[in-house]
Amino acid sequence: MSGKVQKLLKPGDLGEFAETIKLFRKNAKKFKVLGGGSNTIIRNGNIPLISTSKLSNFEFDGNYVQTEVGVELSVLVREAEKRGLSGIEFASGIPGTIGGAVFMNSGAFGEEISQCVEKVTVVDENGNLNDLDVSELEFSYRRSVFHDEKMWIASCLLRLNYSTPSEVSRRTRRFLEIKAHAQPLTMPSVGCIFKNPRSGYAAQLIDRAGLKGYEVGGVRVSEKHAGFFVNIGGATFEDFKAVYDEVFRRVKEKFAVALEPEITIIW
Ligand SMILES: Cc1cc2nc3c(=O)[nH]c(=O)nc-3n(C[C@H](O)[C@H](O)[C@H](O)COP(=O)(O)OP(=O)(O)OC[C@H]3O[C@@H](n4cnc5c(N)ncnc54)[C@H](O)[C@@H]3O)c2cc1C
Repeated sequence: MSGKVQKLLKPGDLGEFAETIKLFRKNAKKFKVLGGGSNTIIRNGNIPLISTSKLSNFEFDGNYVQTEVGVELSVLVREAEKRGLSGIEFASGIPGTIGGAVFMNSGAFGEEISQCVEKVTVVDENGNLNDLDVSELEFSYRRSVFHDEKMWIASCLLRLNYSTPSEVSRRTRRFLEIKAHAQPLTMPSVGCIFKNPRSGYAAQLIDRAGLKGYEVGGVRVSEKHAGFFVNIGGATFEDFKAVYDEVFRRVKEKFAVALEPEITIIW
């Protein structure tokens, strides 16, 4: 995240969350729902944000977990591991909330959160809570029906698979090791900036365009993984935009590929 936020609302329960959305929609006011903010860049603080940080209840029942949107992915990974439940290990090392993960169908190592989602309770534009089946969520690569911003995620039911704590732990550690080896996890970032194009990898194109280490102000294209821009100190939105535009331009020029953002940019 960058920029200053002027209004941050933190509903305390799902009823308040729905009511807040209803009020904004009724008055045709712009707003954004924010989870952990780990995948979002903010230009200025004029748009009110509804944080899901207090919507953090969850309950396991056998191999199912019912979770409110504000629960951190790391918490779900840890709790599933303790119970020997498999399916969400790929999310180890991914920051943010289950709400953000469902919104963008987060994934890694060939697995995606959509594979665990059974049902989602959504808030509609009138502030009503409705249950939607996974088939209605239009999941695809880093996308879901929620990108249309006509519904917001309140809670979801995940189905995991029975395994053993040691096996789940082994998979979790392995994924985390691979991630830490390949990605600049010790530097502040918002993750991969661009989606992978139809063929190939965004990071590879950025690297082949000679942009590893390219920097403007406080933002640098990571030398470890060219898909990440890291904050090397005092990064501003303008620094980010300058690096973003240059990377986009040079990849388009060299490979005729128009990269698409994976992150959310709040203008
Ligand atoms: C170091 C690092 C590594 C990462 N690795 C991966 C990876 O391997 N795979 C991957 O897929 N992603 C990765 N990410 C990206 C990101 O962290 C995840 O996708 C995460 O799930 C985003 O969650 P969040 O709560 O922080 O989302 P936020 O940044 O808060 O929000 C992201 C989007 O979701 C929307 N949103 C959030 N909550 C709701 C809601 N309740 N209803 C409707 N819309 C909502 C927001 O409006 C915004 O558009 C990584 C990020 C970092 C910084």
